[in-house]
Amino acid sequence: MGFGLLKVGNLLCLLFTIFMMGELWMVLLLKERKEPSELKLLRMLKARGGLVDDSRFWNLEKGYQGEVLFDKWFSALDGEWIVVNDLLLEYAGSLFQIDSLVIGADRVYLFEVKNFEGDFYLDEGKWMSISNNEIKNPLLQLQRCETALRQLLRSLGYQTSIESSLIFINPEFTLFNCSPKLPFVFCSQLNRFSKKLLKQSSSSARLNARPSRLAEKLCELHMEKSPYERLPDYRYEELRKGIVCVGCGGMDMKLVYMSFCCINCSAKQDCSVAVLRAIYEFYHLFPNMQISTNQIYDWTGGLISKKAIRRVLKANFKLIGHAKSSKYVIDKV
Ligand SMILES: [Zn+2]
Repeated sequence: MGFGLLKVGNLLCLLFTIFMMGELWMVLLLKERKEPSELKLLRMLKARGGLVDDSRFWNLEKGYQGEVLFDKWFSALDGEWIVVNDLLLEYAGSLFQIDSLVIGADRVYLFEVKNFEGDFYLDEGKWMSISNNEIKNPLLQLQRCETALRQLLRSLGYQTSIESSLIFINPEFTLFNCSPKLPFVFCSQLNRFSKKLLKQSSSSARLNARPSRLAEKLCELHMEKSPYERLPDYRYEELRKGIVCVGCGGMDMKLVYMSFCCINCSAKQDCSVAVLRAIYEFYHLFPNMQISTNQIYDWTGGLISKKAIRRVLKANFKLIGHAKSSKYVIDKV
C-alpha cells in the first residue's frame, strides 16, 4: 500500500491513471489551502504599527495554523480520497465556509477545524470558557454548514451522505460536560479516528469519475473573495516605514553589505528580495497609490538607495508614462 499527495489540473485523467496503478492508494489534493488574504494584510499592518486591536489578527492566525496542522495530519493518512480545502460556497443566497471537504467513494466528510486552547465546558448548549465567557457555538456552525452543503449537493444531483466532524486539533484543549455522541474529534482521538476513516475507505468501492466530477464542480463554485473580510481603517502616513523582518516580523533591520539583517532574530535576506517584498506589501496595502522610485524610497524608510530601488523596479515591473508622470505597474501579483 502506498501513498501519494498530488495537485491536479485534470482530475478525471489523473483518476484514470490511478485506477491503472491498481493497489496504490492516493489522497488527491484538488484544492490547496492558501493563507487568507485578510490575514496577510493584517500581518503587514501589524508589523507597521497599523493595528490598534490585533485580536482579529490572532484569531485568524491561530485558526489558520490549526488548519495547516490538520492538513499535515490528513496528508499522512492512507486511503483513497479527494481533498478540497477551504471552500466558500453559496446556496439559496446564504454563504458557507468549509475548512476541509474530503470526498470518498460512498460519502463526503465535512471537517471543521478548531484550534481552541484551554479549558471549556458545555452548559445547556452554551459554550463557556472556564472563566465563564461564552464563545460562539462551533457545533451550530457545523450543523448550518452541513445543511447548506446537503442542499447544494442535492441541487447538483448528488444524494451522497455527509459525515461532519468538529476537529479540535490543539492538544491543550479540554471540553468538559460533553456527550461522547457529539461529532467531536479531540486531539487525543486522532489516531483512532484515522483508523476509522481508513476502514471506511477500504470497505467501500474505489473512487470513480462521479465523486471526482463533484469535486471539480465544487471548485468551480468556490468564491475567491470572502465578504467576511473586514480590514481596519489605515492611512499611509500612520504606518511605520522600513523593511519588515521575514523571521520575527519586527522592523529593526540593518543593511550589511547587500543583505538586511534583523537585530532581534538575526534573520537575513538579500537586499533586492527584501525591497521586492516591501514593494508587494505597499501594492497590497495601497492598491490605488502609484509605485515609483521616490514612493518606495519613502516606504522603505530611506534604508536603500534610490538607485538600488530603481534597479529592483525595472527588473520586476513595467514602467509606463514619462518623466514625472511615470509609474511602475504590476501585471500580475
Ligand atoms: Zn527578525
